[in-house]
Amino acid sequence: MDLNKTIQNLLKDRDRWGKVLSSPISYRIVEGALVLARKSFPWQAIYQMGRFALNQTGRAYTGKVPVVWSSAFFPVEIAWSLQLCPFSPEVAAAFITGMGFGAEALSMGEEAGYSRDLCSFHRCIAGAARAGHLPRPAALLASTHLCDGAPLLFQNMAEIYDAPCFTLDVPYAAGRDAEVYVAGQLERLWHDLAEVTGRRPDRASLGETLRHSNGFRKNMIWANELRCRMPSPISGNDMLAFIYLFFIGQGSRDAAEIGACLAEEIERKVAGDRGNGAEKFRLLWLHLKPYYSNEVMRFIEQAGGVLAFEEFNHIYWLPMDPAEPFLSLARKVLAHFDYKPVEERIRVIRELAEKYRVDGIVHFSHHGCRQSTGGSLILKEALQEAGWPVLLLDGDCLDGRNEAAGGMLTRLQAFFEILEERKEGCLI
Ligand code: SF4
Repeated sequence: MDLNKTIQNLLKDRDRWGKVLSSPISYRIVEGALVLARKSFPWQAIYQMGRFALNQTGRAYTGKVPVVWSSAFFPVEIAWSLQLCPFSPEVAAAFITGMGFGAEALSMGEEAGYSRDLCSFHRCIAGAARAGHLPRPAALLASTHLCDGAPLLFQNMAEIYDAPCFTLDVPYAAGRDAEVYVAGQLERLWHDLAEVTGRRPDRASLGETLRHSNGFRKNMIWANELRCRMPSPISGNDMLAFIYLFFIGQGSRDAAEIGACLAEEIERKVAGDRGNGAEKFRLLWLHLKPYYSNEVMRFIEQAGGVLAFEEFNHIYWLPMDPAEPFLSLARKVLAHFDYKPVEERIRVIRELAEKYRVDGIVHFSHHGCRQSTGGSLILKEALQEAGWPVLLLDGDCLDGRNEAAGGMLTRLQAFFEILEERKEGCLI
């Protein structure tokens, strides 16, 4: 049976979600469908990631281990090192939407007072929590960097679930003082989280977690280097699925192994010289994509476009030292190129555009996301001056009510015509 249909069937009756999601039988049914569908996965690394995600979801909903909600950019290694079950509500919101239940969760979020101009990830989470569809957290971990809505949402959620919320305050300016400040918070937070969840803080386990995280980093760099080949060996749409590992997996053995599996598969494909077919336009994709419909990605593919690389898959931090775990994690958090003056994001995007030899850059401007869309006009001007056509594609990752897909396709079509004219101009 089709994997998506199996999940949709299990979840079709919203009133029974609590029962279905907390029953181990549901996970065995989905696991069976996943195994049967194994050969249909374009990459075994994605299949492995599906198994990892299913296992994590089962652990979160069946309540075998304390669950901690972790916001998108929080260093999740902290939770793995205490053998807790990290849960990303942002990923859950994308999944709920992908399964066709997003509009309902969004409406519930709006009924709870979350205005429609707020990020739809947050509205969806608020609605799903209100409906009792998310696993009860023992604690919540939010970081102030990049996503300024997350700490506020998490504080609201902490009230709903009557659970402690730990907020990591990340200063905007990096430097030695900032590193020491963030490291000190992380160390205190690690001890407090252990106490709240009844875990024993163990430095050896923390060191091991950082080694896994370094393994994930190394393997993703390996995969990313292979992606410089032309034609592109893997579809960027497939690569956007690996966001799951960035948000939830870093610090787990599974994420490191899945990263290795991905890089090995790409290497085999590159060795066999089997690219992704004809490439009319190579694109650099900024931010995420719509999860409520595949129309935009399908359109790009049909027009001969490939996502040669995505900003979210860029590894921007240095390897961590397991002997100095908190300082290393602090450096990683502070290293994010988007939590700096916009010139830094421009520098990184220019480097990626050159490295992956792209013809154009698409910034998916998700409504309500200040960290990404805030500087997008400055970004566009600077990149255009440097020679790349740039499209700011206004849209929403989860809320299909905000944007008719047809409008996005028209803008993409016009952008592709520009790219085509440029290519023809080069040939004359
Ligand atoms: S899209 Fe932007 S505002 Fe929304 S959760 Fe992600 S970082 Fe936060």
